[in-house]
Amino acid sequence: MHIRSATFQISAPSLETCPVSDLPEFAFIGRSNVGKSSLLNMISGKRDLAVVSATPGRTKLINFFLINNQWTLVDLPGYGHAQADKQERERFQQMIATYLSGRENLALVFVLIDGRHSPQQIDVDFVQWLSTYEVPYVLVFTKADKLKSGPLKQNIAQFQERLAGLCIAAPEVFTTSSKERNGRQELLSAIQSVLDRL
Ligand code: GDP
Repeated sequence: MHIRSATFQISAPSLETCPVSDLPEFAFIGRSNVGKSSLLNMISGKRDLAVVSATPGRTKLINFFLINNQWTLVDLPGYGHAQADKQERERFQQMIATYLSGRENLALVFVLIDGRHSPQQIDVDFVQWLSTYEVPYVLVFTKADKLKSGPLKQNIAQFQERLAGLCIAAPEVFTTSSKERNGRQELLSAIQSVLDRL
């Protein structure tokens, strides 16, 4: 897939306020600091695409970008914000859960996981939730340049083992490095193959 255009559309605070659209949506989510902004910039080929969603007031909203007039890239807020209080966190989780379980044109969710770490409970819980609600998703292990391939493979295997222990079928896995621009074509091909099947 060649990215010809990538433009910010709108930010929405809830499922009800998401734009009406028939275009397939591909959503990206992960803990804050996982490398989501860097990855979205790499995928779109725009150095500052995700700057829009990182501006004050937008970090806690669902941000929509139109790609090639063909599909929508959705930048979901990062989960596990240390600063947010409990009430804020719950409101936030509710918004993300409502979008993920209720958005009819949602085609695939890319769950970003920091490749440097062994499985974190918050990520396992989130994937379990997606699986329970039958939301289609794949895993993207980020920051692959930060460690050798052995330890990275081990972190991925451990994550898959945790999912297997919960009787969750092994999802498709990608590894990326925004620093070294690795994994871009693989993610775009995954998007293309979903588009081809629709
Ligand atoms: P976000 O909070 O999930 O949007 O994460 P950012 O994209 O802002 O990245 C968080 C930090 O990780 C920044 O300091 C980035 O420079 C760094 N980072 C992101 N992706 C990579 C990567 O692929 N490799 C390396 N080495 N650092 C990365």
